[in-house]
Amino acid sequence: MSKRIVIVGGGYVGVGLAKSLDATADVTLIEPRSHFVHAPAMIRAVADPSLLDRVLIPYDRLLENGRVLHARATGIDATGVTLDDGQKVEADYIVVGTGSSNATPFKPVGDDIEGLRQANQRIHQQLKAAQTIGIVGAGAVGTELAGEIAYAMPDKKITLISDTDRLFPTMPEKLGASLAKKLQDAGVTLKLGNRAENLQSMTEPYAGQLRLSDGSEHTFDLIFPVLGSRASSELLEALPDIQKSTANRIKVDQWLRPSSLPNVFAAGDVADAGDSMTIVAASRQLPWLTATLKGLMADKPLDTMKPYKPWGPKAPILVPLGPKRGSSFLGLFTAGDFLTRRLKGEDLFVTRYNKLLNRE
Ligand SMILES: Cc1cc2nc3c(=O)[nH]c(=O)nc-3n(C[C@H](O)[C@H](O)[C@H](O)COP(=O)(O)OP(=O)(O)OC[C@H]3O[C@@H](n4cnc5c(N)ncnc54)[C@H](O)[C@@H]3O)c2cc1C
Repeated sequence: MSKRIVIVGGGYVGVGLAKSLDATADVTLIEPRSHFVHAPAMIRAVADPSLLDRVLIPYDRLLENGRVLHARATGIDATGVTLDDGQKVEADYIVVGTGSSNATPFKPVGDDIEGLRQANQRIHQQLKAAQTIGIVGAGAVGTELAGEIAYAMPDKKITLISDTDRLFPTMPEKLGASLAKKLQDAGVTLKLGNRAENLQSMTEPYAGQLRLSDGSEHTFDLIFPVLGSRASSELLEALPDIQKSTANRIKVDQWLRPSSLPNVFAAGDVADAGDSMTIVAASRQLPWLTATLKGLMADKPLDTMKPYKPWGPKAPILVPLGPKRGSSFLGLFTAGDFLTRRLKGEDLFVTRYNKLLNRE
């Protein structure tokens, strides 16, 4: 009889793993949302809501043999996962990929896909009416948002604010420098080395005033707080012998196990395996998880298989500034507009994820 694998969370980890094990195991994916949310394209969708039809992707065609249970997991033990309706789903192996939350309108609040659509519409209307836009936080999401708005709505006055002295300070200097130049060419004002001191919301865009740490005051018709993701780790926190790390993440061992339960694994944003909170990281963890779970199902002891090794400092990053421009670090070198456009900017991997969920 095939082994029962229960996957909690249908994000990049959950969907990828469920699909890759569907033919060899008895797979159950537990996910309360009706649609998969393809986060990279939610940034461009602020400027172009017509994208949403292909960016929010229904789960109904994902699995041929296994099942997607639309429910929220509320508890885990060595024998399975408990759901919010009290039902228990028995498992031989459990993988937790509960991911993270982010600001509106980039990710849903809880399972509310309709609420995300409405927030996208509302903020798009506010953006159209606004003349001055402040973006607080210049990680990948804030930087891309500045580039997308500058491309789609070139008449807006955009200010990108970051408390770091340069863009992408942990990456090779050329990446941040070339992105800064391209943003400035597109008319974006950069306020680097500056903290916003009076943010009214960490998660909701609003109109108002910002006081920066250099003492300057700015009024914006729309302020986007873009301060990074926070892991959804409530389920894992209840397990024995867990260790918390930054942004609510839970540390995992070199076999991606978060606790002393030997058959419970965790990956993606919720798990701190030494990788950043990215799809790029999940894409490295997925083949490892698939191979390791297949090994376990074939009765190979875990410690005879290769442990997981994180990306380290050479993890690639692709940063489009709209569909035409952008810069990327590809592990060995920094690439410019052409490669960034071809690899990501044109399509934002929308086609890839529609195919993964068997929609086109
Ligand atoms: C706007 C934006 C753009 C991004 N762009 C990029 C990019 O271009 N490249 C890149 O590499 N990374 C990007 N990222 C980061 C990327 O989105 C995350 O790294 C990725 O989503 C993590 O995948 P995951 O599977 O860990 O979790 P998620 O994608 O967060 O999915 C977690 C899933 O678990 C479900 N869940 C949560 N709790 C429970 C529970 N108790 N029971 C059942 N289900 C539960 C949620 O409903 C959700 O569907 C971006 C992030 C944002 C916000």
